[in-house]
Amino acid sequence: MEEHYLRVYQTFDLEHVNKHLLIVGDLAADCSACKALGLNYREVAQCPECGTVFKFITSRRLGTAPGERYPIVKRIKNARPDLQLVDYDDFQKSMSKKKARDFFG
Ligand SMILES: [Zn+2]
Repeated sequence: MEEHYLRVYQTFDLEHVNKHLLIVGDLAADCSACKALGLNYREVAQCPECGTVFKFITSRRLGTAPGERYPIVKRIKNARPDLQLVDYDDFQKSMSKKKARDFFG
């Protein structure tokens, strides 16, 4: 049976996501909490630098390559069924808004 991905909308505590998020880049991943680089997204459970346990995962390429979105989703979901996949643009936009709000009170 062919699988189809549909995006769902759910509320999150942004700080919580930010502290436990693994961000997949082109080759390796990095830790959103401490910005540690060069992590292997397929197997890292915990950041070797700051010790945070990863609960969420995203990929920078989800936002930049619409045609490649679903192969990337599939690859990440297959590699890390233990982590919740969130959309990179949604996360970034919400974080920017939050930072602006925190800054300007
Ligand atoms: Zn870290």
